[in-house]
Amino acid sequence: MAVDRLLPTEEAAELVALVREIAQTELAPRAAGDEAAGRFPRDVLMMLGEVGLLGLPYPEEYGGAGQPYEVYLQAVEEVAAAWMTVGVGVSVHVMASYAMATFGTPKQRAAYLPEMIGGKLLGAYALSEAQAGSDISAMTARAKRADHGYELNGAKAWTTHGSHADFYTTFARTGDDPRGGVSCFYLPGHASGLTFGSPEHKMGLNGSPTTALYFDAVPIADGQRIGDEGQGAKIALASLDSGRLGIAACATGLAQAALDLATDYARKREQFGRPIAEFQGLGFLLADMAAAVDSARATYLMAARKRDAGRPFKRDAAVAKLIASDVAMKVTTDAVQVLGGYGYTHDYPAERYMREAKVTQIFEGTNQIQRLVIGRQLLK
Ligand SMILES: Cc1cc2nc3c(=O)[nH]c(=O)nc-3n(C[C@H](O)[C@H](O)[C@H](O)COP(=O)(O)OP(=O)(O)OC[C@H]3O[C@@H](n4cnc5c(N)ncnc54)[C@H](O)[C@@H]3O)c2cc1C
Repeated sequence: MAVDRLLPTEEAAELVALVREIAQTELAPRAAGDEAAGRFPRDVLMMLGEVGLLGLPYPEEYGGAGQPYEVYLQAVEEVAAAWMTVGVGVSVHVMASYAMATFGTPKQRAAYLPEMIGGKLLGAYALSEAQAGSDISAMTARAKRADHGYELNGAKAWTTHGSHADFYTTFARTGDDPRGGVSCFYLPGHASGLTFGSPEHKMGLNGSPTTALYFDAVPIADGQRIGDEGQGAKIALASLDSGRLGIAACATGLAQAALDLATDYARKREQFGRPIAEFQGLGFLLADMAAAVDSARATYLMAARKRDAGRPFKRDAAVAKLIASDVAMKVTTDAVQVLGGYGYTHDYPAERYMREAKVTQIFEGTNQIQRLVIGRQLLK
């Protein structure tokens, strides 16, 4: 059932309705098969780029749609409800474009942004390393000064879209200061000296490729550095504040899909001569699931509205990511319960939703790290 949304304009309402229609007709029917086969739906992301979804929150002068985050996130939620891999793909791409859109010089923006946000190029965000996950100050990938600009050596771990992306927004050390010594670079996917690990074998989100990146004397021109030297940690964390809202929207969409599946099943499935939805024990479970999904959506929308109004939203983004991902985990697990034995099989997507929900509590900062962010903001 379509979510009853409050959108700021008629245009935005039509846009989200259109995204929902595309998601339900073109994405949802393919999700189970491609996930089971571990196939990356690159064609779907290109199609969404052509209809403007990959540039939704970015300025119109560079080919974006200039929509508020409040609208962009609800569109992402609709995509994730149909196919989580694609929702996460859109969110990661939009996050990967953030550094250039926000910290790039006018010359860099003119050169790179139209293709990045116009959907021609697919992006990835390379921050984590094998020994530097929650603690990015432990980063060791290093961009050393060279004649042409820099030479990059080292490795990144866990890169979503690894080996498929056209560009990698990459963070590397240019100095020894744990935070102040990090810089941000635009790295094309075909850069010489850039190679990729094999895709990780994951619990879920199997259509979304996750690989390591290896840098062997990768040449980087000065014009590929985004922002000032040493500004990388600030850029990485600002990107994550917005990226976490994308993940909160994806988690909400996934939870909504699980709720819709469970509700529909409970209406149709009969035991003891009645639809199981009529048993109060199950009706209360469905009601709790619905209340949780609504509160996840309200939380990310509050954060998005603050962002749209130009107000600080770091704490709100962390709260949204924490709440929505915990809701996704709980609601998808409860959906399996509502479906009983069938919920545990591949006949229904409930078990896949549950596997996909787990990673939302881990990536773009684990939920322990979200609590650290919220706690620090409280004490400021
Ligand atoms: C499918 C997938 C896709 C990903 N995509 C990307 C990507 O595109 N780009 C990218 O850069 N990274 C990506 N990541 C990496 C992801 O962001 C990290 O896995 C995450 O930040 C956690 O880091 P870690 O795995 O090293 O865990 P660790 O940092 O080793 O944490 C292990 C445990 O310790 C806890 N912990 C750590 N520090 C603290 C603390 N101070 N207080 C309390 N608890 C703590 C954590 O919460 C966690 O429970 C992806 C990961 C996955 C699984």
